[in-house]
Amino acid sequence: MKPLTEPEIRAAFVNCTKGEASRLNVPRDLAEQPWDDLDFLGWRDPQAPDRAYLAAVLDGRTVAVALRSSGAASWQARRSLCSLCVTTHTGGVSLLVAPRAGKAGKQGNSVGAYMCADLACSLYVRGKKEVGTKLHESLTLEEKIERTVANLAAFVAKVTA
Ligand SMILES: [Zn+2]
Repeated sequence: MKPLTEPEIRAAFVNCTKGEASRLNVPRDLAEQPWDDLDFLGWRDPQAPDRAYLAAVLDGRTVAVALRSSGAASWQARRSLCSLCVTTHTGGVSLLVAPRAGKAGKQGNSVGAYMCADLACSLYVRGKKEVGTKLHESLTLEEKIERTVANLAAFVAKVTA
């Protein structure tokens, strides 16, 4: 993906207030992110580990989503599957919940999905980060990347619906 700047990321949040978007922690090392290997940028807030964020360019539009780990159920002891990149981890998948954009979110509606706990889906798909067990899949790398982006777009669509 194309490298994003901090102002671009802050302006792209769809499901938090402008004030929250201006205060939340964006990675300081944006220039060093492996943008060429990323389908989306995902990160955890180092000061609030139950908070996570992702930013992507979907259909030419930059969107960022604020996420929260959902409490005690967030770490699965058993092997579980990331709903974005379809990587299987032992203990490395979190249930992350995004408040829905706009009115629905203010009324407490949210969308949850199991995702790689470190949000490094792009790197798992490309084999740049290793996991214990690999699923044997006949998909090419291109197809896996397409699937990850499609899953992400579907998730973002639910948040912004
Ligand atoms: Zn993943």
